[in-house]
Amino acid sequence: MTAVEGETVPDLFTAPDDYPPRSVWQRDCTVCGACCTAPDIAALAKPLGTPCVNLGAGCLCTVYASRPAVCRNYRPDWVCGEVAPLPTLEARAARFLEIYGL
Ligand code: SF4
Ligand code: SF4
Repeated sequence: MTAVEGETVPDLFTAPDDYPPRSVWQRDCTVCGACCTAPDIAALAKPLGTPCVNLGAGCLCTVYASRPAVCRNYRPDWVCGEVAPLPTLEARAARFLEIYGL
C-alpha cells in the first residue's frame, strides 16, 4: 500500500486510543501459540490460520534454536493481551485473525 500525502497510515502494532491497557500479566509472551498459528509466514510456507509444522506440545517451538528471522524478530504486543487469555489455540488464532482483519 502506498501512503497518500496527508493520510494517516494506521500502525497495526499500536493499540487503538480507546483500547484498555494490556494486562500486566500479558506483558511478556505467554507461549499461547497464536502468532505461530494465525498469520501466514512466507519463510515457513505456512498458510494463514494453520498451525506451524514446528509448533509442538504446549505451543512450544520444536526448532526454537534455528527458527527463522521472522520468528526471532517477533515481539509480544498489545494483541497478546487480547488473544493469550482465550482458552483454546483455535480461539486465540481466530481472535488474532479478527484483530488484523484477516
Ligand atoms: S501471540 Fe503473543 S503471547 Fe501468544 S505466543 Fe505469540 S508473542 Fe507469545
Ligand atoms: S518456527 Fe517456531 S516460532 Fe516460528 S512459527 Fe513455527 S513454531 Fe512458531
